[in-house]
Amino acid sequence: MLNIIIYVFAFIIGTLLGSFTTLAVYRIPRRENILNKRSYCPNCNHKLGFLDMIPIVSYLFLRGKCRYCKDKVRIRYLILEVFSGIIYMLFIMSLNLNILTMGYKELIYILIMTIYIVTLIIIIGIDRESNTIIKSVKKFGLVIALIYILYLYIVDINIYRYVIYYILLLLIYVIQNDKYIYSIFYILFFTLLFTGTTVVFTTVIFVLLITAINILIYKYKKIENKAIPICSYICIFNIGFMILNNFTNSGM
Ligand SMILES: [Zn+2]
Repeated sequence: MLNIIIYVFAFIIGTLLGSFTTLAVYRIPRRENILNKRSYCPNCNHKLGFLDMIPIVSYLFLRGKCRYCKDKVRIRYLILEVFSGIIYMLFIMSLNLNILTMGYKELIYILIMTIYIVTLIIIIGIDRESNTIIKSVKKFGLVIALIYILYLYIVDINIYRYVIYYILLLLIYVIQNDKYIYSIFYILFFTLLFTGTTVVFTTVIFVLLITAINILIYKYKKIENKAIPICSYICIFNIGFMILNNFTNSGM
């Protein structure tokens, strides 16, 4: 019973995170503040009230329209919120937590991994819209990766290989230019740092597969100059295989 409450709670947190993610994906490329500026309708610019911002519920209650100007809210937002809720619930389930014996170590781990997942979803969103990973997101990635290594050090895990991944990550960040390949390598080392070799190896195999399928489809349909969102694929498969890996290893 306690577990069901936790999973429902995780779903709700997930939808809130999803809602934050859509906001971040919209604002980061426009260089708007993502934390201390109130949400507003992108059509009429009216500030949103608390009742307009409840994930899923607001959308259904307002029938997918802005309360003030009646402009349609994209269904994509609803889908992303539901999707985030499910992903986050699965992630919490996969950790196989015992809430009664859980300490601060587990809590900090969950917090860091939550920020990790949110970062990947933001990367997916921005990659889908503009085929790039914005530098400020990469910079944020460096910060959260450093916090993670610090956490591992404090809980007494050998951080040797994590430091190596971090140095490589830093190097890619410093030498990067606009080429997409740098973003791909950045994501690879970023996911490696958080989810380990097994998960990333599986991820890479599936990304190669789907990329090959993509190329074939583009060739068949004679589509040219259309970018394949490889970074998005890496993030999606990485989240999926991380959760799967947790389940098979029965949690944290
Ligand atoms: Zn409006």
